[in-house]
Amino acid sequence: MKVELERLSHSYDVEVLHDLSLTLNDYKAVAIIGMSGSGKSTLLRILSGLERPSAGTVRVNNHDVTNAEYRKQVGFVFQHHSLFPHLTLLRNITLVLEKTRGYTPEEASARAMEFLDLLHLGDQAHKRPRNVSGGQAQRGSIARALSLDPEVVFLDEPTSALDPILTFEVLSAITELRNIGKGFVLVSHVMNFVAAFADYVIYLHQGRIAEHGAPTILDNPSSRELRDFMARVPDLSFR
Ligand code: ADP
Ligand code: MG
Repeated sequence: MKVELERLSHSYDVEVLHDLSLTLNDYKAVAIIGMSGSGKSTLLRILSGLERPSAGTVRVNNHDVTNAEYRKQVGFVFQHHSLFPHLTLLRNITLVLEKTRGYTPEEASARAMEFLDLLHLGDQAHKRPRNVSGGQAQRGSIARALSLDPEVVFLDEPTSALDPILTFEVLSAITELRNIGKGFVLVSHVMNFVAAFADYVIYLHQGRIAEHGAPTILDNPSSRELRDFMARVPDLSFR
């Protein structure tokens, strides 16, 4: 996956991302970390085309992120699962495949089961979101995102609403996806997951990239900001 930020700034009432420039080539999984309010979700939303940057140019795999065609094909997984509550996990996926991708019901069903199986949900396919665990529902959201065959999957704190056991379960499932040929850009506070899954880390501090590099920067920060952050971030267990 290729990610290019060229003088990216973004404002709501005030400017929250300040003149970011960065070019990344050939990474599979880029993690964005930082304190609450540092601009992680804003950057992720811009990279995924959900939000249009106030200034600058952003390209992912050479697609301008403001391009409508790009926006239509990305996968996004939010903090809370975004499944339709009245539909089974299976129907949550087949409906989208039929309505947005023109699959026949048979094709949609086969493809949905393939991705439910990949996320270890084959035996939960006929349950509605309220009848599965939060971790299973979140894995269902991931299965749905992947079934649409996006080039890049964006995940914004996919486990922050889950308890430690379910967090472990979901992060393990994500780790297994590392080599399926998709790019991943994610925000997570679980640093040992970030270290295990990401091959590039961006540390945001007050809307600026304070440090970036291989995940080894987590063990050996060179900036005071990242060193302070690593000392404060809770040591959530993963593996
Ligand atoms: P993070 O994900 O790192 O917690 P965000 O990107 O959500 O940070 O927020 C960065 C800053 O932008 C914060 O000061 C936040 O209050 C502000 N912000 C985020 N979304 C909006 C919005 N829709 N309207 C106004 N301000 C926002
Ligand atoms: Mg956020």
